[in-house]
Amino acid sequence: MYERLRAYEGQAAANSGVGKDPVNEPMIRHWCEAMGDTSSAYPATAPATMLQVWTMGGLSGNAGRTGVYDELFALLEDAGYTSIVATDCEQEYVRPLRPGDRVTFDATIESVSPRKTTKLGTGYFVTTRMDVRVDGEPVGNHRFRILKYAPAAKRPGKGTGTGAGAGAAQAPRPRPVVNRDNAGFWEGVADGKLLIQRCDACATPRFPWLPGCGSCGSPRWTPFEASGAGTVFSYVVMHHPPFPAFDPPYAVGLIELAEGVRMISNVTGVPYDKVRIGMPVELEFLRVDAELTLPVFRATGVSDEGASDSPGDAAVPGKGA
Ligand code: ZN
Repeated sequence: MYERLRAYEGQAAANSGVGKDPVNEPMIRHWCEAMGDTSSAYPATAPATMLQVWTMGGLSGNAGRTGVYDELFALLEDAGYTSIVATDCEQEYVRPLRPGDRVTFDATIESVSPRKTTKLGTGYFVTTRMDVRVDGEPVGNHRFRILKYAPAAKRPGKGTGTGAGAGAAQAPRPRPVVNRDNAGFWEGVADGKLLIQRCDACATPRFPWLPGCGSCGSPRWTPFEASGAGTVFSYVVMHHPPFPAFDPPYAVGLIELAEGVRMISNVTGVPYDKVRIGMPVELEFLRVDAELTLPVFRATGVSDEGASDSPGDAAVPGKGA
């Protein structure tokens, strides 16, 4: 395996790539804001550490890629090294970049390490060197190293898709952060009630719990109990990344309660790939473990046979499906 990987050393990963945008003030400003860098040197020049930014192809990729990287990755994936982590980056700067500079770059797979075992797992470090130029003159270079590896810990088997399956036995589900602002909500859950806040001044209901009203700003409110009826307003199916306490794939629903507020929760009683927008759901409390109970929502009008429980729903077979 190592010999096959080493054959990629020295091969070009990108030839005469061209930066998608010239060095420009808006991107410099966004970077500085994100980094909290208020130096007056910017944006007349770009922060040196932005070097790689000007070479990035975004979602649609860059012209100039040779496909060698993809080949190398495919080889590693086929051998079971399916995970990847960026480990480090070294940069050298020749001169500052300024707005208007047009960047070109070449990238070479510089080295592939022998097989290494780390805490994450066993795999190979791949180092890529990129040379960045403006008008054919070098302005800097960087080495970017990744570890492509087979994870050390075995994942639990595919679950039933509710997110509360086999994975929960392996690692405890994360605890909610209970604070002064939301303690009343969790006291309600302990009592078997889903409590929503209602503003005393303008009567707007709100969720999640907040110290002030988003509509009028009033800090005065009174809790009231939700009926428990709702519909799936939207949802996503989580496949990746896997978290220790969860067992992907599973559906995460944005539930619209009959009271008009929305909350994020699990949809139970239905396979993850059968959750649909508009699906009626009903509150139930899921006892996750000895210390944790969570409000979740059971799909109603759905049974294993795909038939419906109530005559009303039976009149519209496949509703929401
Ligand atoms: Zn209000």
